[in-house]
Amino acid sequence: MNTIKLTTTEKNTIKSRGKSCLNHGEVALVGSGPGDAELLTIRAMRFIEQAEIAIYDRLVSDEILALLPENCERFYVGKEQAKHCVPQDKINQILVEQAKLGKKVLRLKGGDPFIFGRGGEEAEYMLERGVSCHICPGITAASGCTTYAGIPLTHRGVAQGCTFITGHIQNNGQLNLPWSSLSCETQTVVFYMGINTLPKITEQLVAHGRSENTPAALIRKGTQPEQKTYRGTIGNLAELVEKHNITPPTLIVIGDVVNQLTNKQLTTPGFLDASDYQQVDIIDQQSAQTA
Ligand code: SAH
Repeated sequence: MNTIKLTTTEKNTIKSRGKSCLNHGEVALVGSGPGDAELLTIRAMRFIEQAEIAIYDRLVSDEILALLPENCERFYVGKEQAKHCVPQDKINQILVEQAKLGKKVLRLKGGDPFIFGRGGEEAEYMLERGVSCHICPGITAASGCTTYAGIPLTHRGVAQGCTFITGHIQNNGQLNLPWSSLSCETQTVVFYMGINTLPKITEQLVAHGRSENTPAALIRKGTQPEQKTYRGTIGNLAELVEKHNITPPTLIVIGDVVNQLTNKQLTTPGFLDASDYQQVDIIDQQSAQTA
C-alpha cells in the first residue's frame, strides 16, 4: 500500500495551523481502526508519518505497522485479556518517559482509543505530568467489523438504535450489565471482549425477554484478510464458539440487522456482491413457488 505523501505546501499549512503537527515532547494518541489500513484517517496517517517512537497494542495490525517510518522505534505493549503483557501503569509511565526524552511519541491503539481502549486514562496520566497529547479517533470495531461483514448497525424499521457494551468481567468477577435495556428487540447490541462470557450473555438476554431466535453474529478479526463471520441466533451462538473454537478478537452482534443485507460470509470483506444478492432472492422465490 502507498503511504500518503504530503506536498510542501500541505506540510506548511498543517504546521502553521498546528493541526496534526506532532512536536518533540508530545504524544499523539491515535486510533488505528480494526485492522485494514485503508480505514485509517488522514489525521492518523499524518501522525504515523511523523513518529519517532511508536508504542502499540496487540490489536494494531501488521499492515498498519508497516506504515511506520523506517527509523521509527517500535515498542510493543500488547495486551491479551487477563494476561497483560505490560501492565497499564507501566504503559502510562513509558509514554511520559519517552515524551520527556523529547521524542515525537505515537501511541497507536486498535479501533478508537476512547472506546474500550483506556485512552482516557492514558491522556489523564500524561496531562497530570505536563505532557500534551493530540487525540485522534479511529474506526471502532463495532462499526468497521459489522460494515465489512455486510451488517448495518441500524436499519429503518428494524433497529432504531445500537449499544456498544463490554462483555469483560468486572473486577468483582461479575458481569453486571443493564440486561433489561439490552433486551429491547428494536435495538442492535454489540459486545466487545465478550467471547469468554458468551454463555452468560446469551442466557441473560433470553432471561430478560430477548427471543432465542434473534439473529446474532460473531465477527473474528474483522476488516483483516482472515475476517470470518459466523451467523446464528442467540440460542446457538455459544455452540458456534465451541464448534469453531472461536477466540478473541471477536465481536458479538445481536439483532435483526444481522441478516438484513446478506446471510453469507462475504468473499471480499466490505464488498456486497449484487449477483449473490439476486441469487438469494431467486432461490427464495423458487422455494416459495415449490412450497
Ligand atoms: N478500542 C477498540 C476496542 C478494544 S477492546 C475499538 O474501538 O475497537 C478489544 C475488543 O474489541 C476485542 O476483544 C474484540 O471484541 C473487539 N475487536 C477489536 N478489533 C477487532 C477486530 N478486528 N475484529 C473483531 N473484534 C475486534
